[in-house]
Amino acid sequence: MSIISNSLKKIKPSPTIAVTQKARELRAVGKDVIGLGAGEPDFDTPDNIKNAAIKAIRKGDTKYTAVDGTPSLKKAVIKKFKRENKLNYSTDQVTVGTGGKQVLYNAFMATLNKGDEVIIPAPFWVSYPDMVLLAGGKPKIVKCKEQEGFKLTAKKLKKAISKKTKWLILNSPSNPTGAGYTKKEIQDLAKVLIRNKKVYILSDDIYEHIRYDNFNFFTIAQVSKLKDRTLTMNGVSKSYAMTGWRIGYAAGPKDIIKAIGKIQSQSTSNPSSISQAAAVEALNGNQSFIKKRSNAFKQRRDFVVKSLNNIKGISCLKPNGAFYVFPSCKGLLNKKTKLKTDTDFVQKLLEKSNVAVVQGSAFGLDGYFRISYATSMKNLKKAMDRIKSFCESLE
Ligand code: PLP
Repeated sequence: MSIISNSLKKIKPSPTIAVTQKARELRAVGKDVIGLGAGEPDFDTPDNIKNAAIKAIRKGDTKYTAVDGTPSLKKAVIKKFKRENKLNYSTDQVTVGTGGKQVLYNAFMATLNKGDEVIIPAPFWVSYPDMVLLAGGKPKIVKCKEQEGFKLTAKKLKKAISKKTKWLILNSPSNPTGAGYTKKEIQDLAKVLIRNKKVYILSDDIYEHIRYDNFNFFTIAQVSKLKDRTLTMNGVSKSYAMTGWRIGYAAGPKDIIKAIGKIQSQSTSNPSSISQAAAVEALNGNQSFIKKRSNAFKQRRDFVVKSLNNIKGISCLKPNGAFYVFPSCKGLLNKKTKLKTDTDFVQKLLEKSNVAVVQGSAFGLDGYFRISYATSMKNLKKAMDRIKSFCESLE
């Protein structure tokens, strides 16, 4: 009998973390690897936020806090939702966790019974299906084509809903495609969900602030009558370059928020007191650097999309947000190149040209790969040259 539980056997380690780890290992043995796998901003946490954390340490904010967040962080979260999303929540409708990841995981643990289904539009963030499986639920993957902008349509949503559907996950702007839903697209989905009366919505808004070309951000609780059935998740990792601080939060129905807190009380307790103090400053402090950083990301996006579309066999949509592109490599999967799958493509690219990207199949859609352009222009230029030479060498 194995010591490892049956539920753990159903899941796999995060493929994006695996690629980053592989690139790190190759670098350690002297290879000049460019890593385009990691999902984190290359910018540093702003100084005002760091200083708030230092102040918290000096002041002695080093003890356990309330399990689901300090009163001042909850207040800052409530203010943020009001200011940026026109959403009103009370303290008992808000929870704070150790990263958005913990909040999502707890939400599934708190709500899923065996066999409950969660609709996950693909391409998806790699952790959603495995989290659902760990919580005993069943991921219902709905593939969204490139021609649909990699977005879920009302028709597909309607078809995917069954008696067992408990949640729909929406992630806009998206990891891995960068696609953002317009207000109209969200409202079209909302119509189906309002008619259905039962399915809850998990809106993962973690890339809210990283968007381009005046793309307007909307979250479903704000633009539909579904607030009572929506858990709106967000965090400081991406917007404030605070991935290592591990603070995420959510707002939604009181019973779900209470249940999430219950799990947290028996697992990790509160998120780091120091990180919470830093997150208060992130949410309440000066926001002007967000725009500046988004402009830098935009330049990189434009360069990467243009470079990729100049490579024979590769094609790439221009995303609205986040710091990823999701190009197709289908034009290079054939007998002549001896590459059958996107995994073959990314493995050969790493082996031959020392560029680390992640295969589309890890995100639920074959024939693509994900590039994170959250790295310097210098690195991106080098990487694009290498990808071009690699693709040309296949012919
Ligand atoms: N949601 C999406 C779509 C993500 O890409 C990530 C991180 O990569 C997260 C949630 C979780 O972020 P964190 O746990 O750092 O808050």
